[in-house]
Amino acid sequence: MSASAAAFMEAVKAKNPAEPEFHQAVDEVVESLWPVLDKRPEYRKAKILERIVEPERVILFRVPWVDDKGEVQVNRGIRIEMNSAIGPYKGGLRFHPSVNLGILKFLAFEQVFKNSLTTLPMGGGKGGSDFDPKGKSDNEVMSFCQSFMSELFRHIGPDTDVPAGDIGVGGREIGYLFGQYKRLCNEFTGVLTGKGLNWGGSLIRPEATGYGAVYFAAEMLSTRNETLEGKKCLVSGSGNVAQYACEKILDLGGAPVTLSDSSGYIYDEAGIDREKLAFAMDLKNVRRGRIKEYAEKYSSAVYMAVDSKLDYNPLWNHKADCAFPSATQNEINAKDAENLVNNGVYVVSEGANMPTTPDGVIIFIEKKILYGPGKAANAGGVATSGLEMSQNSLRLSWTREEVDQRLQGIMKSIHSSCVEASNEFGTPGNYVNGANIAGFLKIADTMLDQGVV
Ligand code: NDP
Repeated sequence: MSASAAAFMEAVKAKNPAEPEFHQAVDEVVESLWPVLDKRPEYRKAKILERIVEPERVILFRVPWVDDKGEVQVNRGIRIEMNSAIGPYKGGLRFHPSVNLGILKFLAFEQVFKNSLTTLPMGGGKGGSDFDPKGKSDNEVMSFCQSFMSELFRHIGPDTDVPAGDIGVGGREIGYLFGQYKRLCNEFTGVLTGKGLNWGGSLIRPEATGYGAVYFAAEMLSTRNETLEGKKCLVSGSGNVAQYACEKILDLGGAPVTLSDSSGYIYDEAGIDREKLAFAMDLKNVRRGRIKEYAEKYSSAVYMAVDSKLDYNPLWNHKADCAFPSATQNEINAKDAENLVNNGVYVVSEGANMPTTPDGVIIFIEKKILYGPGKAANAGGVATSGLEMSQNSLRLSWTREEVDQRLQGIMKSIHSSCVEASNEFGTPGNYVNGANIAGFLKIADTMLDQGVV
């Protein structure tokens, strides 16, 4: 990194202390963009990068609610409205005990570039709470969601800020949040995406992130005249993204062999077929159980609990061709990246956001594997949220085939934008540079057009 880029990063760190995930996300982008800024001094002069790292607005609020025992609980709610140059703020809500300002700022920052790549008119945002839905009754989840929306409603709207789901926020939570918004505003509008099909949701939205990550892998493979047929695939997580990544891997002839949750992972040598995937989906979405139960049901699978003494994740240490990290940030460290490459993995398509640490990313790039960073590879989710917004505005619903076709078209277009930008700026095959540069250029040019705001 050049001295001026390093000085820029020092300033970001000083201004945003104790936010390591945010620093990590900005650092990667700065590294990619510095050569672009050298070629385009007008961006420097207008302080585009200085403005992009500063959220347009941050809303932080108290979320009090009463649990089933009658005790008062207090959580923190946050919404980061990061950048609205090209459209209303758009990005998910995360409910997880690890949520804090820095994590949401990293996610909101990445979202700005990702949304720009989708070709749709969406700005970037992210939000959530340190609330943990695990182990809570439906009634408790509803009470929390209603309290959360009782403050958030005044900051969002179909043309202002349109939240969606993320970790811990699925169809159930979106339903409770939407119900409370409608009640408070007396308005039925497309203010959230990921809605149920009966009340404005889009077909394929639940599937979109996982499907999109697999379509992106297929696009990367096509540059080597290969397909997913017969490929062994490691998948982490067992939530929304992981489940539909597995489904699409099966559709395209591949074989998923792992799934995980925060307690451990299963390895199924025989492959996770459709029947086993249906079991895992029911386990996670309906019974809200742990992935360990998969290995209790199927003898072809072994379960390994998380071992905090290990400095690597054994899930990434199996012979395979492709990996789809689909759980959370920084789940692949440098040792995991080495293990993956040594086990034959040459395609990594990130369903999760920033799942690979910077040292891990360097290994993937140096080994010249097909590495699709989350910003590009998991953009299918928000792209389909954009399609849900279009359908809501038009007051009609497209068929499954129509939405899926648009999703595939968008993933192809994201892939080719990354390839073109990485070629243009002298790093062919580097999808990290490609995604950062292609996402940035559209935002930067728009910010120039709109003046200093
Ligand atoms: P879900 O809540 O549906 O599933 C998350 C999965 O990851 C669960 O299996 C969960 O296990 C596991 N997990 C979560 N946190 C941790 C942790 N700290 N350590 C280990 N495992 C963990 O979330 P999604 O599938 O929606 O999201 C997964 C990833 O994909 C996230 O990075 C998210 O930001 C990203 N993403 C999601 C999009 C979407 O449309 N949903 C869009 C784009 C990106 P457990 O049940 O034990 O918590």
